[in-house]
Formats: sequence, structure tokens, C-alpha cells
Amino acid sequence: MNPSSDPESDRHDHVRQQRVVADLGDRVLEDPDLDRLFRDATEAVRTTLGTDTCKLLELLPGDDRFLLRDGCGWDDDVVGSETVSATRDSQAGYTLGVADPVVVDDLRTEERFDAPDLLLEHEIVSGVSCIVGPTDDPWGVLGTHATVPREFDEGDAAFVRNVANVLASAIRNGRETRRHDEEAALADTIVETSPIGITIVDVDGELRFANDRAEEIFGRKQAQIGNLRYDDPEWDEVGPDGEPLAAEELPFPKVVETGEPVFDQVTGVLRPDGERVWVSINGAPVRDCDGELDAVVFALEDVTDRFDRERDLERYETIVETAHDGIYVLDEERRFELVNDSFAALTGFGRDELHGTHASVVFGEAFASIEADQTDVATSRRSPTFEESIVVGSDGTDTRTVENRFTIQSTEDGTRRIGVVRDVTERKEMEAKLRESEERFRTLSEHLEEVVWMTTDDPASLTYINPAYEEVWGLDRDSLYDDALSFLEVVHPDDRERVREAYTGLPEAEYDEEFRIERPDGERRWIHARATPVRGEDGTVDRIVGIDTDVTRRKERERALEESEQRYQTVLEHFPNGTIALFDEDLRYSLVGGQALGEIDLDASEVVGATIEEFSPDEIAPTLESACRGALEGTTTQVDVAFRERDWTVHAVPVRDTDGEVFAGMLMAQDVTERKEYQRRLEESNERLEQFAYVASHDLQEPLRMVSSYLGLVQDRYGDELDEEGREFIEFAVDGADRMREMIDGLLEFSRVETRGDPLEPIELDDSFANARRDLQLQIEEHDAEITAEPLPRVVGDGNQLRQVFQNLLSNAIEYSGDEPPRIDVSAHREGSEWVISVEDDGIGIDPADTDRIFDVFERLHAVDEGSGSGIGLALCERIVERHGGEVWVESEPGEGSRFSFTLPAADGVDET
Ligand code: ADP
Repeated sequence: MNPSSDPESDRHDHVRQQRVVADLGDRVLEDPDLDRLFRDATEAVRTTLGTDTCKLLELLPGDDRFLLRDGCGWDDDVVGSETVSATRDSQAGYTLGVADPVVVDDLRTEERFDAPDLLLEHEIVSGVSCIVGPTDDPWGVLGTHATVPREFDEGDAAFVRNVANVLASAIRNGRETRRHDEEAALADTIVETSPIGITIVDVDGELRFANDRAEEIFGRKQAQIGNLRYDDPEWDEVGPDGEPLAAEELPFPKVVETGEPVFDQVTGVLRPDGERVWVSINGAPVRDCDGELDAVVFALEDVTDRFDRERDLERYETIVETAHDGIYVLDEERRFELVNDSFAALTGFGRDELHGTHASVVFGEAFASIEADQTDVATSRRSPTFEESIVVGSDGTDTRTVENRFTIQSTEDGTRRIGVVRDVTERKEMEAKLRESEERFRTLSEHLEEVVWMTTDDPASLTYINPAYEEVWGLDRDSLYDDALSFLEVVHPDDRERVREAYTGLPEAEYDEEFRIERPDGERRWIHARATPVRGEDGTVDRIVGIDTDVTRRKERERALEESEQRYQTVLEHFPNGTIALFDEDLRYSLVGGQALGEIDLDASEVVGATIEEFSPDEIAPTLESACRGALEGTTTQVDVAFRERDWTVHAVPVRDTDGEVFAGMLMAQDVTERKEYQRRLEESNERLEQFAYVASHDLQEPLRMVSSYLGLVQDRYGDELDEEGREFIEFAVDGADRMREMIDGLLEFSRVETRGDPLEPIELDDSFANARRDLQLQIEEHDAEITAEPLPRVVGDGNQLRQVFQNLLSNAIEYSGDEPPRIDVSAHREGSEWVISVEDDGIGIDPADTDRIFDVFERLHAVDEGSGSGIGLALCERIVERHGGEVWVESEPGEGSRFSFTLPAADGVDET
């Protein structure tokens, strides 16, 4: 049915159609809801054209079917679900191929395409359809149909096409919006969930945006980040080398300056918690539509872990490469996987040579022990140390001692050995030497008399003390190890604090002390203790070595010396009745003293410094000088000189040092003025006595001879006329005259001992003894005396006088022997430069009270009838012995016998023993 053929009504229809299209176009701009648009559009088409149905088909993916997306006039259940073929033999599919609307007048006769089921079912006869969207990218098809045959004019077709265009444009808009929305949402998701930190910074440096990750990386909230400009010092940005970045090195200004992106700039940034985070920064410029720089977008990656690892690795590499120790890594087959320069140098191989070489080539024997212990190493995680000799290099000329320490590391690619090798050759040699020298030191000090000790740098911590300590100090060594200061307990209380202070002042202060100790056993000793700090190579003190010397002997000697000096001084000052003077090799007085100085009005200072020649008067100077020269040559000389109206006996004596060398001389002058006077008088009186004795005895002999001879005459002539008594009287008188003669002879002899003797000279005493014995032969036989004698020495003496001494002593011994036959023993023994000669008998003995008296002239202990002596024998002996410079004495007890002894100078020199 054709609703109208009237032109007026046609124009009216056309206007209406245009208004519908315009309305729909407005709707598209106002309301983005496509579904509502689709419904309204299909409804508007049906109503406007007065058709029965309208449909909007949407091409499905695959392009071979349409979905009945929307429509009206259809059965309820088909819209939204029914699909239609999109092949060219269907009306819809055919419509896709042409740009213009397709008009169908009668479907039943239509030849261009088949009627689809949907149209047939709804008894569709005619209609118009038009493509929605461009032919090269169609969205679908819009169509309207009638159940009765109907003619659609060009205006109708244009109307459908216009609506289809409005829809196409709405769809295109919607699609773009959706795509835009989706893209925006996706971008947001990406940005927000990105493992990469993203920030956008305005061209003026203000933060526009930061995502969660960026907040995490920087440890700051977006607002906090926004408060900081890119160049705020709080970021404390540094480069990979740890050096602060200059302003122009920062990523933001770099991008802004150059307009170029930055890639992977690793920068260290400080978090508020003080931790440094390492960030790989990628920055790109963002430009607005005019191409002007608008912002910079940054992608930030936290590379702290990676960076730390890399940096650690770099450091490890540096360590390994610069290490003085040799470092190696062995692979599972024990081949060198990695070695450093030091290792190569140590082994004498090149690095390349070692790579892939089996470890046994270097370690040899040592490697076997590594193999043996490997399970232990792996399980216990210990780092065993092996000390081995390795042969250096392939030529094998050099051998080094190394310390090889390694660990076993198991990784996915197998087991590795990582080792460090240290050349300890020098150290070992040093240690060996040190041990040796320490050993020597100990061995030596074990046998030393000196006390040797050692501490650390602290004197209170003793490390060694030798056995001499116990010997010298009388203390236990163990107690000293317990307490190095315990030795102080035996230090003399007066010295203790001084020693403690000096000892504990070590090693800074000097320790060199002499002190006394009182040992536990009561012995006192003197110790000289010294110590020296011993410094190591670095100059610090690493021990203190000390020595204690027992200086008791020296101290005693010093004291003795002091005493002797004192004595010497005393002697010098108080030298009685004389002077002492020391003179040097130039015969110059160096020291003068003695009591006599005062007496001759002489001051020591007048003498000291003068030479002997200068000081002595001319008449004695030569004598003294030659005596003093003799002293310097080692001889002792005695001279008598007169000086200042006095007589002096002067001894010039050599003064020797401890080696016996003469280094000075000494003059000892004894004032002998009085002695000389006395001697002179003695000599005079002796002379007078001798003269008297001689004269007396000589002159007495004549009248005595007269008495004797006239007594003889009386006896001869008148003997018979006299009675018994008269004859006895005469006998007494003769006896008395005889004794008197003996006494006079004895006295004469006594007076001549000094003046008529022979000179004293070496003689054999045996000869004198034998002569005396012969003279006494008669008496010996008479008394049946037995005389024993040992060989007698050579002495200096007068042989004749000594014969007389023996004769008197032997005669007395026989005389006073008592009733038994006399037993007499003669012996001699040496005493220094003299001989002591003894004559011992077993006779009647002498009372000790009388032993002095018997040596006096005419002293006798016994009555005349008991003995025949004259009482001058022992006095003569004493005078003879004294002339020889000796003495005579007796030891006796009454009834026990007597021993008479006398001394004589030996003839063989002073020093012989
Ligand atoms: P005499 O001529 O009387 O022996 P001496 O001078 O020889 O005189 O002795 C003095 C005295 O010493 C003697 O008279 C005697 O009493 C005593 N005398 C001397 N020798 C001995 C002796 N061997 N034993 C005991 N008495 C002695």
C-alpha cells in the first residue's frame, strides 16, 4: 500500500524525515547511550515510513553472521538473540557490499538474493536496507520492511541512509569513547600496579604525579615527594661511585636541558629512614600539542639489591685482584677455574697457564691431603689450614712454604673449592730463627750465674726466669711466675721502695739499681739489677729482658777497700814516730803524713808536689833519690839519713797495683834519734861491760891462780899433818877456786859474744851439732845418754857460737836428766824465714815460774852439789841467739822433761817454704 502519491504530502513527508534525522543527530551528541538510540532510531524509521518492522543488524566477529541487535515489529524473543546470515545471497549481506540503500519491491520475486527465514517468517514482502558504517569497515545493516507490497521512493531510501549514517557516527563515537575510556583505565591500572615507579614532573620542577611504587621506592608519600624539588638536598643524590651529583647531572635538568630522554641512570637517593636506595632512572620529555616541553615522566626501578650485589662483586673483584694472598677457585674436577695475580706470582705459573690445570700440578703432596679431608671439610664447614711446601713454577728450582686455607662450596653447578694461599716462607724462616735463638738464649741462660729474666712489655707479667734466680735470691721461681713483683719481699726494707719504683717504671724509665736482699735463709747479698726494653720492627716494646748480678763479692771488696783506705789514711795520719810519703814515677811527693811531721815543724802541704830532689837537703838528696828509684824498679832499700837534726831510718818501698806492677813508691821514715842514742849507750855499756868483764876476768885470773897454787902447796906439804876436817876444808877451798875459774872463763866468753864472734854467714847447722856432740863424748858415755836428731838446716850464723849453744843445751839435758839415762831429741822446723831448733829431754823439768830466770847470768835453780854448772850456760845461749836475730825459750813442767827452742834465720831466702 502506497500511503500517498500526493506531491504536497510527499514534501510534507520529506520534511518530517529530515526532522527525525536531525533529532537523532542531536541525541547522539547529548546521550551516549547507544542502546537507547538504537531503539528510538528503529522506532522512528518504522513510524516515519509507516512500515511494519525495522531492524538493526550488527556484524558479528568473523563477518559471516549478523546479530539482530535491535528493532521493532518483530516477535518478542528474536531481538537481541536472532542471527542472520551475512553472505551475499542474503539481503543484509548483499547490502554490505553496496554504499547505497537497497530497495526491495517484492521479496518473492527478488532475484539478487534469497529471502532469509526471519523475513519469511514475518511474511515480509518489501523493504529498504542500508549499510551502517563505511563499506571497508562495516558495523552492520539498518533495514525496514512491510508485509504488503510497497514502493519505496528515493526519499525513503535517503532517509534510511541518513539514519544509518547517524547511527554509524554514534557507533563510531561510542567506540572511540569506549576505547579511550578503556585505554585510560588500562593505563591507570598499569601505572598503579606497575613494579616500576612512575613520576611526572612539571617543566617547572613541580611533581605532578607519583605512583604507589614510586612512593615505596622513595619511602615518601606523594605529598611529601611533591614538597621536595628535584634538587632538594634531602634527596642526597649520589652517583654509582658514591660521589654527590652536581646539579646538571641530575636526571630532571638533563632531560629539560637536552629535550632528550635519559636511560638507566643509576642514582643513589636517601630515604627519610636514612637508608640509601639505588634507583635506575629512565626519563622522557612530555610535549603538549604545540610540541612545547610540558613535563618529564620518569620510570624508576629500585636496583638497590642489584647495585649492591654489583658493587660487592666489584669490591670482591678488587679485593681478589689486589690481595697479597694468592686466591684460587677449583672446579669440581679440581681444575683451576680462577686465580688472582698473587697466586700466579706465588706459584711461578702464568694465570693463563693455570686456568684449567689440575690443582695437583701446583699443590702436589699437599693436594692429597686436601682430597683426603674433603668430606670432613664439606660436612663440618670448617676452613682447614694446610701448611705445605710447594714447588714454584715448572722448572722446580724454588720451593716455598705456604699456608693453604680453603672452603668447599656446593652450588647447583657442582662443588667448588675456594682457597687462599699465603706465602709464609719468610715468616717460617724467621720463626725458626727466632725459636733457635730463643732456644740458645734459654740454654745459655740456664747455665748462667747471672739471673736472666724476661717479661712482656709489662714488667708485672713474667715470661721467663732462669734457675740462677733460686741460687742467687734463695727464692722459688714458681712464686715469681705467679707474681712478678714477689722478689721485692726480700729486698732490704731501706731499698725496697726505690727498687719497686724503678722496676714498675719499666719499660719507659731506666731500670739499673743496686740493692741489698735478705734471703729467706738469712743470707745477705748485694744485687745489681738492670733491664732493657726490646722493641719489635714497628718500634713498640714487645718484651723486657733483665739481668740480676750478684755483686756481693764486689761490694765486700769495695767495703774492704774502703776500710783499707780508711786504715791506710789512719796509718798515714797517725804513723807513729815517723812520716810516710808516696811519690810518683817522677819522684814527686803525692801524699805525706805521719806524726813526726808536727815534731819537726813540717806541714804536709810544703812537701806535696815537690820532687825529692827539690825538697831534700843536698847531703841526703842523692841517697834518697837512688833509694826511691830502686823502689820504682821493685826493690826495697833501707837508708839512714839525718834531717832537721834528727836521725831517720828510711825505707823506700815499691807500691804495686793488683797486677803486681809498680806504679809508685813509698818512703817510710822512722825517727830513730832516740833509738840510736839508746843503742849508742847500749853499745857503750856493752863495751864497758866487756871491758870490765875482760879486765875483771883477766885480772882475777892471776890472784885466783895464786890461791889455787898455794892451796895445792898446802895440800901437798901439810896434808898429812892435817886432821880429816882440815883436809876437807882444803878440798872445799880448791873446789871453790875451780868454780870461780869456770865462772870467770864463762864471763869472759859471755862478754866476747858480740865483739869477738865470726861474721854471720850461711853454714850447715849439722856441722855445729856434730862438733858439740864430739866435745861431749865423754859425758854422754858416762851418763849412757841417747841422743837422736833429724837432719838440721842451713842457716845464717856463726858456726862456732852455735856449736857452743848446742853444747850447753845438750850438756844441761844430760846434767838434769834425773835418775834415768838421759833421752834427748833434736829437731828443726821451718816458720816463715826462720828455723826453730828444739832440744828436748825427759829429765827433771823446770817450774814454769822459773823459766825466765834461768836465762840470766849466774842463775841456777839447783844447789852446787846437784849440778856442776856455773849458771852462765843459758845466758850465753841467749846472747848468741840474739846476736843471730833470734829468740830462745823453754817449755817445761817439773818431772815432765824440758824442751829448749831457739830460732835462726834460714840461709835460703825469705820466700822459700
Ligand atoms: P848451769 O851451769 O847451772 O847449768 P845454766 O845457765 O846452764 O847454768 O842453767 C841454769 C839453770 O837452769 C841450771 O842451774 C838448772 O837449774 C836449770 N837448767 C838448765 N838446763 C836444764 C834442764 N835441761 N833441765 C832442768 N833444769 C835445767
